[in-house]
Amino acid sequence: MSVRVSREAIVRADRRHVWPPYTPADAHEHSDPLVVVEAEGAWLTDADGRRYLDGNASWWVASLGHRHPRLVRVLTEQVASLAHVAMAGITHEPAALLAEELVQVAPRGRSPEPVLTRVFYTDNGSGSVEAAIKVATQFWRQSGRPEKCRFMALDGAFHGDTVGAASLGGVEIFRRPFAGILFDCVRAPSPSDHGAAFEVMEQLIRTRKDELAAVVVEPLLQGAEGMRMYDAAWLARLRACCTENDVLLVADEVFTGYGRTGRMWACDHAGIAPDILCLGKAFASLLPMGAMMATDRIYDAFRGAKDRAFYYGHTFYGHPLGAALAREVLAIYRDEGVVAQAAAKAPIIAEAVRRLGALEGVVAHRSLGMVGVLDLGRGGYEGDVGWRVYEEAKRRGAYLRPLGDTVYVCPPLTISEADLTSLLDIFGASVRATLGG
Ligand SMILES: *Cc1c(COP(=O)(O)O)cnc(C)c1O
Repeated sequence: MSVRVSREAIVRADRRHVWPPYTPADAHEHSDPLVVVEAEGAWLTDADGRRYLDGNASWWVASLGHRHPRLVRVLTEQVASLAHVAMAGITHEPAALLAEELVQVAPRGRSPEPVLTRVFYTDNGSGSVEAAIKVATQFWRQSGRPEKCRFMALDGAFHGDTVGAASLGGVEIFRRPFAGILFDCVRAPSPSDHGAAFEVMEQLIRTRKDELAAVVVEPLLQGAEGMRMYDAAWLARLRACCTENDVLLVADEVFTGYGRTGRMWACDHAGIAPDILCLGKAFASLLPMGAMMATDRIYDAFRGAKDRAFYYGHTFYGHPLGAALAREVLAIYRDEGVVAQAAAKAPIIAEAVRRLGALEGVVAHRSLGMVGVLDLGRGGYEGDVGWRVYEEAKRRGAYLRPLGDTVYVCPPLTISEADLTSLLDIFGASVRATLGG
């Protein structure tokens, strides 16, 4: 597809009027953005016809790559019959059948039957977490335990940008500007960098179980803080501890879900099911949509008088286009064996990262499923070493947005082995050029 106006005109309008997400104003003013005109599979094409491998799956969304032909077809078909309708006194095939299908695929731990049996639709990942916070709070209020209204979250956690979700967040630079309006939560050390994390957390849960509504975690992989990873055994112990102390467990699989870690759900590595599951990102692939799923026990607390209902739900709840896409996403996962494909490619990433980890200047390296990570400094999200790698990679034909001093690959799960090898070559060359220069 050709650009209708010049690249310069687009950049000028962008610099002058767009307020970009997660971007310092100065950087925006002086940056030389990619002007993308087309995206297909693992590739982005810019206004000059240059191609880039999408090493970040467009903020961890494009697990099936860009513009999967089956998704494009379903979207086109759905828009031709029902593009939108309010789901109030109305239901429709995409949302109703998607719920049925999600219940079947959701994590169920060791239970032969589905555990997460109710689906509440949202517009994005933050919305799923926000719904989880409200559901957990109201659940305890209507179970005769209104004092259980506090949340526990991990250091370095990221659960989204709305005020409730941001309150759970543990990334300092994202919290600081809003400190005055965020609610207070019980903070536990991250198992990614704290040897006694479990003992500390267990103690916190035991002593505060009468005030805790839920513990909220990103299972196995804390994305936004710098792709921190931790062991499945910790998650299994957390599940047991929550059950023992009657505290709900919320698994935020907005990033880790849909095969990113090498299993359909990160929870699967630990063989557990949460009480509440939050979904987003890869959920509908082409459109913003997510879901919060909950157990029968939780849903049952909302039965009865009118004032026990969950008075919540955004205007575009259960959007037919998003729901139709989300169903097709699940069908593609089934038909193409996407998770098995990803698991088979994971060792390629692990090996590349292990080799690069030996370079002088690499502080730490790690990988899990289709995520490979290098820390190139100790500046965290505010560091700028990763941005030098970003520029090097751009010159070499890959889009590798960093998290400050942390650089990573997080490509579409469906990327071909040849493209994955090229991506890792560019990743390695860009890291070497940065560290050597
Ligand atoms: C991205 C993310 C969110 C927020 O999702 P949005 O769609 O940006 O609102 C929440 N939790 C986790 C773990 C995420 O990675």
